[in-house]
Amino acid sequence: MGTATERTLRQAVEDAAAELYVWSLKDIPSDLRDALGAALERETHKVGRRILETIHTNVAVADEGNRLVCQDTGIAVYYARVGERFPLHPARIEEALREGTRRATLDHPLRSNTVHTLTRKPTGDNTGHRIPHVHWEFVPDWDGLDIKCVPKGSGSENMSFLKMLVPADGVKAVKRFVLDSIVGAGGKPCPPGIVGVGIGGSADLAMHLAKEAIARPVGTHNPDPDVARLERELCDLLNETGVGPMGLGGDTTVLSVHVEQAHTHITLNPVAVNYQCWAARRATAHVSAGGEVAMDRDA
Ligand code: SF4
Repeated sequence: MGTATERTLRQAVEDAAAELYVWSLKDIPSDLRDALGAALERETHKVGRRILETIHTNVAVADEGNRLVCQDTGIAVYYARVGERFPLHPARIEEALREGTRRATLDHPLRSNTVHTLTRKPTGDNTGHRIPHVHWEFVPDWDGLDIKCVPKGSGSENMSFLKMLVPADGVKAVKRFVLDSIVGAGGKPCPPGIVGVGIGGSADLAMHLAKEAIARPVGTHNPDPDVARLERELCDLLNETGVGPMGLGGDTTVLSVHVEQAHTHITLNPVAVNYQCWAARRATAHVSAGGEVAMDRDA
């Protein structure tokens, strides 16, 4: 059962996860609201404007009625940043995140989406084998824990792409692959959203990085200036394609492009694309070593 401190912390993490899952589904972050507002101001296409106005009405209705912004409660994905001196083992943190997800689903109640991948039998509580999925980052010389919940809807997750490019084809091939992926996806991932691009590492790491990229606040840039330049170039190129809101034409195909990269093998060039829809939900909690929880709308 662990020490009293461990039990207190485990409960704090479970409560935080339960709150984060519901909160993220109802109240989209301010950076996303601003990006959607700016898109509406910029949009010149008649149908594109209409769709962006409908999205704004959708958000306002959710705000007024304390309702979900979208019916798809997604798969709960968590990003856990754990300080090396945080006094609760990651195994217990993972257990608490899972229990918090289950509790939120049953208590609210939320729609459960999780099924066995072969039999398609539902679990009924948005948990299952290896679900929710937790991404881990371990932080030296720190005693805190950050938990970010990013529910991922299937419409956007189905539009995920991976390609092992030829290294000699360079950045040009990366741009071509991202453009082909997003134009090919059309309206399926509910644009305009955030395009996450993961470059380098291995096949699995590239997709992991693409997923990490969509969890960043809208419009943030990679600290590497070369990568940040690629983010801006891709964003401009994608918004010139005319795919537009919901794929029905317009100036705004994406709100932002976020790129994360890792070093790779000299003869590898993996590139992954992960789309996050306009309802780019996320919510964060900071948990101190003493069990105090601070909710954060902007992280
Ligand atoms: S892709 Fe996003 S906006 Fe579209 S249905 Fe799924 S969660 Fe909702």
